[in-house]
Amino acid sequence: MPTYHIWTIGCQMNKAESERLASRFEELGYKAAKSFNDADLIVLNSCVVRQSAEDRVINKLHDLKHLKKEKPQMLLALTGCIVDSDTKVLRKKFPFIDQFFKAGEYPPWLEKAKSATLLEKPSPSVYVPISQGCDNFCSYCIVPYRRGRERSRPPEEIACEVEELVRRGAKEVILLGQNVDSYGHDLPGKPDLADLLQELNKVEGIARLRFLTNHPKDMSQKLIDAIANLDKVCEQINLPVQAGSDEILQAMKRGYTAAQYRQLVKKVREKVPDITLTTDIIVGFPGESEAQFQETLDLLSEIKFATVHVAAYSPREGTTAARDFADDIPSEEKKARLNRIEQLQSQIQSEMNAQLKGKAAEILVEGRNKGKWYGRTRSDKLVFFNSVGDYLGQLVGVKIKKTSPWSLQGKIE
Ligand code: SAH
Ligand code: SF4
Repeated sequence: MPTYHIWTIGCQMNKAESERLASRFEELGYKAAKSFNDADLIVLNSCVVRQSAEDRVINKLHDLKHLKKEKPQMLLALTGCIVDSDTKVLRKKFPFIDQFFKAGEYPPWLEKAKSATLLEKPSPSVYVPISQGCDNFCSYCIVPYRRGRERSRPPEEIACEVEELVRRGAKEVILLGQNVDSYGHDLPGKPDLADLLQELNKVEGIARLRFLTNHPKDMSQKLIDAIANLDKVCEQINLPVQAGSDEILQAMKRGYTAAQYRQLVKKVREKVPDITLTTDIIVGFPGESEAQFQETLDLLSEIKFATVHVAAYSPREGTTAARDFADDIPSEEKKARLNRIEQLQSQIQSEMNAQLKGKAAEILVEGRNKGKWYGRTRSDKLVFFNSVGDYLGQLVGVKIKKTSPWSLQGKIE
């Protein structure tokens, strides 16, 4: 029986697409291989959103070059955001790769397989893409160039897939898009994310709904109301702010000011008081002064996010920021700013999580690691607990006994 191995880095969208690829391979009769060495077919699902991710992809490609020499009959395919419409340069650089296909697309030999069936037993928490691509063109970002313009999937198709996943045992569905707040604008009748959530909220057997990523310039009152009113929609949103300075936000072409962002957070918190907010930050954007960086720190101290995904700016060829601005913040300075954010966050998270000690929480159990069960609360806090018995996919009540900035330890009630 032929075997496959998929290596994935990058965003949740990539993870979701790799799961889909795996389903197609299974459908074609392939079996999952434990490692690269045992596989007849290898897919690298790449990310180039930052230089560090791109470097890891290039390193992996070099490893595979050697493997391909030893095993020339092995089929190598490359997908994800490294693959542009024109693959000439890639073909020249990596002649040992047999197939290139763009993120979210399938090569013709995979297209022939029946429509995507889904993995026999999905994990309790599954990703479902609701749109592809992005229309925003933030000045630093390569995503719109590699994943193309935004295309929404029809709500009926998404509902069908969600029902099937839930029938097979999934309990939590995380809807994915680069900008879920503009979902549906390209569809007949213009259904929006709130409409979609309303439909999915009715699916029997589904316990939780989440969605990623929100865009501060597009998040509507209707969506905020949906979070407040729909019982399965979790009180948690990722709302990337990227920077706290208006000059930097403008240079990033984000389409909002720091004051507008603060106003939006206020609106969300008024309507959903126990909302968990997470965000993304880029440090060391071209020209970012110490004072401008301080504005980011101030915003983080004030809003108190539960998690901050922080990245050092790296110029991406083809973006307007890479063309128009010199990458003038030294990398040591970027690293120092990144560390300052991480330190501040560790303090904020430590204080926020400490308040949960002694409280009850319901967690959806996602798996076992190092002898402990783990899962997440509705507010997306990671909780570990010790217990014999099989809790996979179950909603379990625990009492929080110990907290750290990154996770919680609970005891089953
Ligand atoms: N659509 C989402 C994020 C997509 S990219 C949004 O609008 O926020 C994921 C994250 O990678 C971004 O939030 C940003 O923080 C980071 N990122 C994107 N391009 C980058 C670059 N050139 N350098 C550093 N970080 C970058
Ligand atoms: Fe990139 Fe901006 Fe689109 Fe997010 S919204 S994917 S950062 S262009």
